[in-house]
Amino acid sequence: MMGAATVLLVVIVAAIWVAQSHSEYIEYNTTQRIVNGQINVHLVPHSHDDVGWLKTVDQYYVGANNSIRGACVQNVLDSVISALLEDKNRKFIYVEMAFFQRWWRQQSKAKKIKVKELVDSGQLEFINGGMCMHDEATPHYIDLIDQTTLGHQFIKDEFSKTPRVGWQIDPFGHSAVQAYLLGAELGFDSLFFARIDYQDRAKRLKEKMLEVIWQGSRSLGSSSQIFTGIFPRHYDPPDGFTFEINDVSPPIQDDIELFDYNVQERVNDFVAAAIYQANVTRTNHIMWAMGTDFRYQYADSWFRQMDKFIHYVNQDGRVNALYSTPSIYTDSKYAANEQWPLKVDDFFPYADKPNAYWTGYFTSRPALKGYVRVMSGYYQAARQLEFFKGRNASRPNTNLLAEALAIAQHHDAVSGTERQHVAADYALRLSLGYKEVHIDDFLFGRSGGCICPCFLGKPKVKFATGEASDGLTTGNALWTQNKFLICHVNLAAVSSTQYKLLSFIRSYVEQWKKLGQYNNVSTTDISVKDSAGNEVESQILPLSNATSILRKYYVKAYLGKSPGSEPKYWLAFPVSVPPLGFSTYIVSKPRQTGNRSTISKVHKSERSTNTSIEVGQGNLKLLYSADERKLTHYVNSRNLASGAYVFRPNGSFPIRSDRQESFAVLSGPVLDEVHQQLNPWISQITRIFKGKEHAEVEFTVGPIPVDDNIGKELITQFTTSMKTNKTFYTDSNGRDFIKRIRDFRTDWDLQVNQPIAGNYYPVNLGIYVQDSNTELSVLVDRSVGVSSLVDGQVELMLHRRLIHDDTRGVGEALNETVCIAGSCEGLTIQGKLYLKIDPIGEGAKWRRTVGQELYSPLLLAFTEQDGDNLSNFQSSTFSGIDSSYSFPNNTALLTLQELYSGKILLRLAHLYEIEEDKDYSAMASVELLKLFPNKKIRKVTEMSLSANQERAEMEKKRLAWKVEGSTKETKVVRGGPVDPEKLVVELAPMEIRTFFIEFASLQTVPEAENQAAT
Ligand SMILES: [Zn+2]
Repeated sequence: MMGAATVLLVVIVAAIWVAQSHSEYIEYNTTQRIVNGQINVHLVPHSHDDVGWLKTVDQYYVGANNSIRGACVQNVLDSVISALLEDKNRKFIYVEMAFFQRWWRQQSKAKKIKVKELVDSGQLEFINGGMCMHDEATPHYIDLIDQTTLGHQFIKDEFSKTPRVGWQIDPFGHSAVQAYLLGAELGFDSLFFARIDYQDRAKRLKEKMLEVIWQGSRSLGSSSQIFTGIFPRHYDPPDGFTFEINDVSPPIQDDIELFDYNVQERVNDFVAAAIYQANVTRTNHIMWAMGTDFRYQYADSWFRQMDKFIHYVNQDGRVNALYSTPSIYTDSKYAANEQWPLKVDDFFPYADKPNAYWTGYFTSRPALKGYVRVMSGYYQAARQLEFFKGRNASRPNTNLLAEALAIAQHHDAVSGTERQHVAADYALRLSLGYKEVHIDDFLFGRSGGCICPCFLGKPKVKFATGEASDGLTTGNALWTQNKFLICHVNLAAVSSTQYKLLSFIRSYVEQWKKLGQYNNVSTTDISVKDSAGNEVESQILPLSNATSILRKYYVKAYLGKSPGSEPKYWLAFPVSVPPLGFSTYIVSKPRQTGNRSTISKVHKSERSTNTSIEVGQGNLKLLYSADERKLTHYVNSRNLASGAYVFRPNGSFPIRSDRQESFAVLSGPVLDEVHQQLNPWISQITRIFKGKEHAEVEFTVGPIPVDDNIGKELITQFTTSMKTNKTFYTDSNGRDFIKRIRDFRTDWDLQVNQPIAGNYYPVNLGIYVQDSNTELSVLVDRSVGVSSLVDGQVELMLHRRLIHDDTRGVGEALNETVCIAGSCEGLTIQGKLYLKIDPIGEGAKWRRTVGQELYSPLLLAFTEQDGDNLSNFQSSTFSGIDSSYSFPNNTALLTLQELYSGKILLRLAHLYEIEEDKDYSAMASVELLKLFPNKKIRKVTEMSLSANQERAEMEKKRLAWKVEGSTKETKVVRGGPVDPEKLVVELAPMEIRTFFIEFASLQTVPEAENQAAT
């Protein structure tokens, strides 16, 4: 009886809908396009494929480790391509080039031709188009540019396409640099994402403000704005419209001979969801992101349903459904000729609900964050050396490091939000990329080609045995032999006389493996000479206890054996290095009569009757209280205006360290050091270099104890009496500074429920506060979370170890450990902070200059030399630029790379914002003729930021959006066109300009070698 009744009902419904009484083939009409005057539902099929998260990038690609998560990106691409080939109306967007490249190189010629046709017809569109969907809080802007360029170049080379749309759907907050630099300056017409603060979203939903014109840069204003769409909820479809095999949404059942026919019901659901969204969206175009994480592994199951929805919904006629892409959607928005609300600054911090700020990840995995930063600076240098040397198509080359760095920018990589084994995978890739392009190899030619010995005239160079160390800080490595030859390489194009420290290696665990072979400095009998044979004053400093213990433990943990002998010292001496070049120093045992390196004097701090201990020999003095052995005063005698500032004695660490375990002051001709062991697992060294007016603070933190079963986050605070009025400034990806006000948001009335986490912001360069007289700046050596929770105070989160998961999907507590024979302890990290107090208006110069030096530090390479005769080395210094030319102080050379086309990719950047500095916020000019003194420039073409289209072409295509309300913008300044004769590049504040340079004849051999050859 029941069965008969059901059949009857079905027949009635079917009669209304399809007027047929038996099941047969239905040809779904998917041809629908935009219909004016109707609500248009743009269905955008997509798969969000994390380039590593719970599984590694390769595990996700091949579908390994499916017990963690059933995800196989190969299946996604295979099945999507065949589904697209089946119906030319279907569309799909693909985002992550790291995955697409892996798939592409496995395809047959015939398949590639078909895929190219899909791309040409617009069925398959690449959007975003970087190697990964990068994080926006924790990467440095140079890494963002590089990873995007790598993906865009691939798309250009293989498909001759330039992506039009930014698609940052998952990152946990959004940066100003993303909007203007990695958006507008790429030529993107729009940018889409999902995650903004829940309070912000609620207001925007109510006021139809989810779609805005975002001007991320104060300096570049409307010239770098982008149409930005925030999804009403998340990057998945409305409830009930997800169609992976295991998804629970009801499919359309339209076969009248089967039970549960539901066409009308499902059409009603569709229309209801569309009308809801149309009510919170301007214009009659809405977008549904049809997909989510690792979907479309069986693409037919999605496309089958979308085919049906488009067919039946359009028959119904209340709304118009179509296959679309974000580009088509953007064009529809533009065609509506509306005015849009203006958005400035950024979307940090992000909370997805009350008491759930996603700000801890600004610091999570500090060792990985540090390693990524070190490798980034290293990569820039290696690429520049490749330019001078000539780039190899075959390995070794910088490609592996470029790819490793690119995927490390993923929003679950450098962000620290991945599982432990995935973090190790990123680090391993970086170390392999690095290993391939040792600076030592480039300079000394172990892997073919060379720079240093070629310049040195007679390459009578014997290489140090074993593997070189990281090329950055190889102090220990120097002492295996009596004599070494050191090339200092300064590729930041910031010329200055600097103290180069041959300091102990720090950072991520992978590096420790390389260290084992260099473990043997016990001598203090050393002399340092420059390449002209002049004595250089140098100083020997003992390693801190914390450093020695750390080194011993990590060598054992990662090499499985104890270091043979222990280094006890490191050496410091001032060096002078020309821009884009190197200089050479000789470290050896002193002759009988020669100068010797000075051994630091140690002043053990006994309880003293004096009230304070003074440290520093130049203008900058730090005063420590003799009683408590804590920093109390910072005094700069040069600019008395800065006066003295009190560091509240208990402000250094919130963890009580009532009894410091030890305190010692070391001094010598190059620098002074204060060693403090604050408790068994926190120590710090504060350094003041002669001639420098800032303090360097090296901290060693860990293992953070969790035996009380409580996870801990370790912060450091600098407290002054400055009246900072709730205001502080943090950088956006190391570039523009953004004003922050405690417990306040510009865009909505903030309900404060987490006064600490809700005031944390990410920095990659640093933080500063100011009052009417003074600025206090703290710069960082990696991405860090910071705040100013009390006026006059700055705090930075250095390390965190947790024992519970935060239920945001990782399913693993952030508890980094290091083990020896199965016995594990928490990860210890070392890092540096840089502190300066300036009179108001003078801080920017220091922040920008030192910021560049921190990002691109002097690199260190070494080899040993036979014999004593230094006259073999005729050319021991080198500069790639005209020696008479001084590169403008307010600019930087970001990229100098030889491409396989033979063209040179050059990026130049202005380092200052408008009104940031009274001298340097001015237009700058860089003379290309002086930059390439030995080459004849044939052609200079200005390109988009990712160099995938000519700038002029990009500007021509740029959409002119209208902004709501009166915009009283002062005229935005940009550098003018480059005159082909004069070849001078103008840079306005915050401008980055990208060029292809072609030389008359590609001459990559250095001049010195040419002379030697003739
Ligand atoms: Zn993701």
